[in-house]
Amino acid sequence: MESAGATLPEVDGVNKNFFEGLAAGRLLIQRCSTCGSHLFYPKPWCVVCGSLELEWVEAPKEGKLYTYTIINRVIGNSKEFEKELPYAVGSVELDVGVRVYARLLASNPSSIKIGCRVVLEPRRLTDKVGLPYFRVVE
Ligand SMILES: [Zn+2]
Repeated sequence: MESAGATLPEVDGVNKNFFEGLAAGRLLIQRCSTCGSHLFYPKPWCVVCGSLELEWVEAPKEGKLYTYTIINRVIGNSKEFEKELPYAVGSVELDVGVRVYARLLASNPSSIKIGCRVVLEPRRLTDKVGLPYFRVVE
């Protein structure tokens, strides 16, 4: 399934709120109503206590880059990603204690450093699907 030149993620009952939130400019993550743990990626139950009582909350729009990599080539049938080379992908640590995998945006790739601050700048693919992108604060 493609739209606007991008491959769409497989949306299901567990991750629907996550992708729809990003389409609306918000990063929604789950919080366990029983133990209070924040969770990422979307799951059907809490991985800390096993509770099924999960709620969706808006995550902070800023975080710290935990780690990253620069993608310089793609393999297989990833032609649409090839057009964007090189690009950065990272793990962003939010203040609520979870890490979110996301694409990174920076006007100068050398400004991407572990520990740097990043700000959410989601990319809307459709009315119902957005992806997490974070811009490096320079
Ligand atoms: Zn829990």
